[in-house]
Amino acid sequence: MRLSIPRASSDRRPMTENRTENNTYEAVVVGGGAAGLSAALVLGRARRRALVVDAGEPRNTPSPHMHGYLSRDGMSPAEFLAIGREEIARYGVELVRDRVVDATRDGDFSVVLASGRTVRARQLVIATGLKDELPDVPGLAERFGRDVVHCPYCHGWEARDLPTGVLATSPLSVHQALMVTQWSKDVRFFLHELSESALTDDDLRRLAAAGVTVVPGKVTGLVVADDRLTGVRLSDGTVHDREVLYAAPRAVPNNHLLVRLGAELRETPFGAYPVIDERGLTTVPGLWAAGNASGFAEQVINAASRGYRAGAAINGELLMTDLDSVRV
Ligand SMILES: Cc1cc2nc3c(=O)[nH]c(=O)nc-3n(C[C@H](O)[C@H](O)[C@H](O)COP(=O)(O)OP(=O)(O)OC[C@H]3O[C@@H](n4cnc5c(N)ncnc54)[C@H](O)[C@@H]3O)c2cc1C
Repeated sequence: MRLSIPRASSDRRPMTENRTENNTYEAVVVGGGAAGLSAALVLGRARRRALVVDAGEPRNTPSPHMHGYLSRDGMSPAEFLAIGREEIARYGVELVRDRVVDATRDGDFSVVLASGRTVRARQLVIATGLKDELPDVPGLAERFGRDVVHCPYCHGWEARDLPTGVLATSPLSVHQALMVTQWSKDVRFFLHELSESALTDDDLRRLAAAGVTVVPGKVTGLVVADDRLTGVRLSDGTVHDREVLYAAPRAVPNNHLLVRLGAELRETPFGAYPVIDERGLTTVPGLWAAGNASGFAEQVINAASRGYRAGAAINGELLMTDLDSVRV
């Protein structure tokens, strides 16, 4: 049977109509970092009723500057997100400063906020980022994001040619020590709690080839003068003059909502992340993930890109679901 072309009729609601009351949204985005705001921007521009719930603790808060985002290089992370919040507001997307503490699914999603409010969502985006658990070295946390850093792509240029240290936090730190030689030729690799026997012959060969000095012994503190890192102290009292120290935190993905909703996770050396398709859809219908909640390696520009893709895909899903529910 051939379907007739639909005409305006009372049983076909306009796509942009709020089919719901105040607490029901076509999409709720958990997390208002680059990923969540980017998803929200696309949804707002697609005339979707969307809500962003953001606890307001983006991962790069400790850093005064954000690098590597084309056209925004060097901007403060806070300013970047403030602009993003203004942009989504233009399109009527709501944003609340709150924390999602629970979520359940019965076809649609019920999303419980710490304030006690419960909202309903047809589609749910998890853009909650990850937490960096820093190595337990006295004074290190206070300097994180300034002269104690983790990522040469974020900070390497600013730290170029400086006397550089790399604190081993796992055998993977060898890779970090090798990488930073692209930015400084004066690199000391502090084994800290890693035993020398954990280094493979290949590690030792590459470290030697790159001119990295391997320093055994536990790091017990940092030396700071005039609010600048000047040295790294070992347990035997020796101090190595260093002006920048790379230290890889342990990444702990903020994945409890994904776990709660039954999304399949994949284990990685950097934590458990959801199995997603190329658009960001998890194994649970209507549940999406973007940014560092979907993968450890997402930098700000990648997180924004992931959010964009999820937002656009959600708009398409909503449209097709609504069209398929129309009797013609
Ligand atoms: C010190 C440092 C410097 C960095 N520098 C750079 C750089 O120069 N360039 C670069 O590209 N990348 C940099 N990064 C990486 C960058 O921080 C991440 O790529 C980026 O933050 C990922 O964006 P996101 O939106 O996924 O997560 P985030 O920016 O972390 O945002 C997640 C948001 O979700 C919120 N949230 C979490 N759980 C909940 C919940 N249950 N309910 C409500 N809200 C919740 C958080 O409070 C936060 O506001 C740096 C990281 C660090 C640690």
